[in-house]
Amino acid sequence: MIEIPCHCGNIIESDMESQIDLSAESSLYAKIVDGDFMKFRCPECGNELKTEVPVHLYDKPAGVDLQFLPELERSNFLSGNIKPIAVRVAIGYPELVEKIVIAGAKLDDRIIEIIKFRMLEKAERNDIRIYLSSIENGTLIFHIHGLKPDQLGVSRIPENTYKKIETELDGLLENDDIKLFTEGPYVSVSRIYLED
Ligand SMILES: [Zn+2]
Repeated sequence: MIEIPCHCGNIIESDMESQIDLSAESSLYAKIVDGDFMKFRCPECGNELKTEVPVHLYDKPAGVDLQFLPELERSNFLSGNIKPIAVRVAIGYPELVEKIVIAGAKLDDRIIEIIKFRMLEKAERNDIRIYLSSIENGTLIFHIHGLKPDQLGVSRIPENTYKKIETELDGLLENDDIKLFTEGPYVSVSRIYLED
C-alpha cells in the first residue's frame, strides 16, 4: 500500500503494489501510455493527483523487467545510491511511457537510444528531450520537447533506419560513446545529454 498526501490535507491510501505483473494486468500497458497510471482521486476533495512512486513492472512472457524510479530519484540513482533490481531502469514518467511503447512494439531500446543520440548530435543542443511516442505503419514517431516553448516537435524515422542500425548493432555497442548510454540497466541517452 502507498500513501499519497493530497493538497487538501487528506492522505490517499492506495492499494497499488510495488511489484506489478503486467502479463496479469495487460490493460496497464495502455493505461501507462495514456498517462493514467499512478493517478489517484482524492475521496475527500475529488482532486485527481498524479504522482511518481518506485515500482517494479514485469511481464515474463513479453520479456519486460523494468524498474521505475521517480524523477526526483534521478541523481540518487546516477550516484549509485539506488541499486538496480531489474534488467532495465526508467526514471520519470516520460521514460516509463517510452519503455512501454518500445516493449509493446517489441523493439530494442538500445537502437532507439542510438537513434536519439544521433538526433541530439545533429541538433547540437542538450536542453531538448526526445521520446519515442508511437509507431505508425512502421514509422517511428519521436516527440521532441523543448525545441520551442510550449511546442512539441515531431520527428518521423523510417523503419529502415532502425533496421540498418540493427544490422550494425554489435559493432556500435563496442563504440565508447555509445557504451556510455547503452551499458547497464539504465539504457538512456539522457545519461550523456542530461548531465548537470
Ligand atoms: Zn484531497
